[in-house]
Amino acid sequence: MTASESPDPAAKSNRTIVHVDMDAFYAAVEELDHPEYRGQPLIIGADPKGGQGRGVVSTCNYIARKFGVHSAQPVSQAYRLCPQGIFIPPAYARYSELSKAIMKILQSFSPTVEQVSIDEAFLDCTGTERLFGQAPELGQRIKDTIRAETGLTASVGIAPNKYIAKVASDLEKPDGLTICAPGREREFLGRLPVERLWGAGKKTVLKLKTCGYWQIGDLAKAELGEVRKALGNHGEHFWRLAKGLDDRPVRTGWRRKSISEETTFEHDVDDNDRLEQVLYKIAETLTRNLRREDARGRTVVLKIRLTGFETFTRSKTVPEPTDETKTIRETALQMFRAFDRRGKAVRLIGIGVSNLLFADDPDPVQKKAARISQMDLFGDLSQSSGQDSGEHSAGHPGDKRDRSERRRDELLDDLKDKFGNHIKRGSLL
Ligand SMILES: [Mg+2]
Repeated sequence: MTASESPDPAAKSNRTIVHVDMDAFYAAVEELDHPEYRGQPLIIGADPKGGQGRGVVSTCNYIARKFGVHSAQPVSQAYRLCPQGIFIPPAYARYSELSKAIMKILQSFSPTVEQVSIDEAFLDCTGTERLFGQAPELGQRIKDTIRAETGLTASVGIAPNKYIAKVASDLEKPDGLTICAPGREREFLGRLPVERLWGAGKKTVLKLKTCGYWQIGDLAKAELGEVRKALGNHGEHFWRLAKGLDDRPVRTGWRRKSISEETTFEHDVDDNDRLEQVLYKIAETLTRNLRREDARGRTVVLKIRLTGFETFTRSKTVPEPTDETKTIRETALQMFRAFDRRGKAVRLIGIGVSNLLFADDPDPVQKKAARISQMDLFGDLSQSSGQDSGEHSAGHPGDKRDRSERRRDELLDDLKDKFGNHIKRGSLL
């Protein structure tokens, strides 16, 4: 897939960027398909098992939110808050079917649609005024078309750039339409809390507040040097966002940025051998999915949730983008062994891979990958395993993997496709 950029990159500040975000998407689809759920608190996620369930809430409708239920919450807690709620497992196939229908509708408004999740997309609608009208009319048309063709409501934000469009779509949810006119960027963002800075995690927010920046406007007025002192390398990025500056183009196509796989235990697990076995299995499933998508990643993330729901992540970047089971497994195991649980048992464990690179990625990424590969031929390879040759297999940028390791992974993938998941790596080695 080739990524294409916004029609006129020169006229960046005069762009019309639309962010469309479906309202409580999974829950809305369920209410559409099951009218009997309407008007009741609806919670989609793991089985609550009468309050003993171990998983988390995936999403819930707005009525359930009034009880304090929210996504990523332990389902047992959701059950305590709202025992009368309807709890159902997610039906992903149905959600993805409607997602495709919605993306098709969006493509009728612009050829430049960037899907960012199952129910969310950016559109570059610069220059479509004659066809669809000014921002308010355009936004209303998009919402009306989605409603008429799917029965679902969307919230829409329209602004001169992606960041503000994203903030805008969230401000008047559900069924919202929020517009930031060109030239009004700083005014629009000024009074919003710094939590609204896109990409600012808890740590960044805390640092900002410690320095007295509570509202985005406080940060916009600050000297860049001061912000750099507070936030280090990321300072300039957030300072620019605060000023309403964001010239990232809308890119067509959907590229996931990461992939992950995790297991929640029925009972918390303390035994290291058992945990390592589970990590082993997770690494196999995860890398098989990577290979299926023809993707490779450079950053391996270990996620551990302990008794009491405290959650930690550890990450490590490997020198080569990889989809190799062994490399990803060993990297995750290293981080697991170095992690101090302070005697606490494990509730959930998982592995993720981010900084993904795809075989058909456009040039700039390929060049970067090739450069990394060149450097590593002469550098330290201690992080990669089994590098006995510098061979490049066709297709993937920056490829330099052990041939036998690749063959082993592929053979195992084939066997699993044919005979199912009980095929174990050990039986091949
Ligand atoms: Mg949504």
